Amino acid sequence: MKANFKKLGKKIAVLGMTVAMTVSMFAGCGKKEKEVNVTYTPGTYESTQMGMHEMTVKVTVSKDRITNIKLVHSETPGIGEPVAVSMPEEIMEIQGLGVDVVAGATLTSKAILAGVADCLKQAGASDDDIKALEGVKKTVEKEKDKEMTADVVVIGAGGAGMAAAITANQEGKSVIVIEKTSKMGGNTILSGGAMNAVQDGSDVAKEKEDSVAKHYEQTFNGGDQKGNPDLVHVLTDNAWSGVEWLKDLGMEFTGVVFTVTGGMWPRAQQPKEPEGTGFFKTYQNYLDNHDGIEMVYNTTADEFIVENGVVVGVKCTGKTGNSVTVKANNGVVLATGGFGWNVEMRQEANSILKQWPTLDETIPSTNTSGITGDGIKMATAIGANTVGMEYIQLLPLGDPSEGHLGSLSGNIEHAVESRIFVNLSGNRFVNEGGRRDEMTLGLFAQEETTMFIVMDSDTYPNGDELNNFGERICDLVAAGRAYKADTLEDLAAQMGVPAENLINTVNEYNRHCKGGDLEGQPDEFGRTLFSDTEGKNNGINNAPYYAAKRVPTVHHTMGGVEINVNTEVIDTNGNVIPGLFAAGEVTGGIHGSNRLGGNALTDTVVFGRIAGSNAAKYTR
Ligand code: ADP
Repeated sequence: MKANFKKLGKKIAVLGMTVAMTVSMFAGCGKKEKEVNVTYTPGTYESTQMGMHEMTVKVTVSKDRITNIKLVHSETPGIGEPVAVSMPEEIMEIQGLGVDVVAGATLTSKAILAGVADCLKQAGASDDDIKALEGVKKTVEKEKDKEMTADVVVIGAGGAGMAAAITANQEGKSVIVIEKTSKMGGNTILSGGAMNAVQDGSDVAKEKEDSVAKHYEQTFNGGDQKGNPDLVHVLTDNAWSGVEWLKDLGMEFTGVVFTVTGGMWPRAQQPKEPEGTGFFKTYQNYLDNHDGIEMVYNTTADEFIVENGVVVGVKCTGKTGNSVTVKANNGVVLATGGFGWNVEMRQEANSILKQWPTLDETIPSTNTSGITGDGIKMATAIGANTVGMEYIQLLPLGDPSEGHLGSLSGNIEHAVESRIFVNLSGNRFVNEGGRRDEMTLGLFAQEETTMFIVMDSDTYPNGDELNNFGERICDLVAAGRAYKADTLEDLAAQMGVPAENLINTVNEYNRHCKGGDLEGQPDEFGRTLFSDTEGKNNGINNAPYYAAKRVPTVHHTMGGVEINVNTEVIDTNGNVIPGLFAAGEVTGGIHGSNRLGGNALTDTVVFGRIAGSNAAKYTR
């Protein structure tokens, strides 16, 4: 059992609003594969577990059945929270524990299952009983095959898909969105939420000495000039109008503009809501208040329907294995994301340049499990060209067990300026303000491909502040995912690195920070970013100190389906495939060999909107 799922001995105060939810009585009509007869001691039992946050699971049983499940939790809206509703319902319905872990909300799912199992054990269920209950699964009858039609069909309900769907709807079209999983969000909702955008001539742009032209240059050069300049211009020219579009839809930003890891410049707009949830709260709010967008969840797109060379729809498989055929009167938008979790595809892609020592199954991914390159396969099956498949971005910030960035994994990362990376010897090895690929390659060369992020209390002055993923630093420390110490000696001891080295490393680093004798000068790794956005950070010298262990993790696949500035998909002969538009990580050619941090969300909004608009206008 992983540390973060283990029962917590003592209560930790939890973040934000606590949600109490009860599923009472026998939910009834579900079928189960087999009856398992377990004799319980009637009563109500309680178990405390760690999902994304601490949760209490209360289970009431009669002599032979579960009669009530109550969760007291503060799981993140849009990520863990929907599962906290659906999973107890299903457990009640089948009177068993054979409920699938939900993609993108694994921590919450596992915490609920562990909590219910623990309560049932307290009620007298043996280990064998629990095993048998885990074998009880819902049997679903295959639903009838279905045919559906809308003006615009969007495949994938991540960032790009939802931006496309809403834009098409704003242009008066009916839209069907096909989504493989049970909820919207994809990888986008798991991201840190930072969205690069500059408004030329604004006060912030002046203060940060930033411009659209600089955003363009850094994006194009940051991708080694391998991107398509026309697409890069589309991205950077339309980034700010993307922010305004989101604001018009009701999305809130904090007003803080910062440098996200690998972002190269302070131009990341920070949403008010944690991770990518603000985007989907906004999109859901639009759906709640407008007609014309039908979300079809638990349905996987398999192949395009092509008539006379025109893409007119898509064949899908529904949750029960039934076939779902979806036709478009206008265009089809492909927005299925990348292939970070398709080990075979990423190994094949990496074999072209051999940029990474390996991308086999030992290397985890920040991606949600549905991100398996489906759209790229579907598009190439009808002749689409791909570009830049060999460029795969890794981050040096994955948690050692699962590769996550958030999910209470111990990512204490904040602004680039405030932290250093050290290896298992307590030494720095790379410019931590540099490119993501350089940082991660640097990490691959370290012992056990493992490092620690180290910072001081400038980032977390009170000890209960949030990281970039909406998690409190004190919760990360309490869960054993981050270390906290009053001295560097103690920090080094907790990290298991030589104290002398860590102290020397920090002292040397501090010489380049504000007040140091080398203030403002690049250090031996070429680092130039030393003070944070508020200018308060003057090195790592303000106890308590923090550290967290990190490994390389597959983050973004830059390559994908070729598109033009209209997001039309291009075939291997250089011609447009009529009726098919693509946006987001499924496409290639925008980020070149290396995507800047903070540009992915910009990509989903900018290209999603163009794809939605052009699919709405497309007629055959
Ligand atoms: P982007 O950032 O490009 O929008 P995301 O990762 O946020 O990409 O979203 C991609 C979405 O597409 C995810 O929600 C994923 O579950 C969904 N998806 C992936 N493959 C399929 C498929 N074959 N059919 C339907 N949806 C899919």
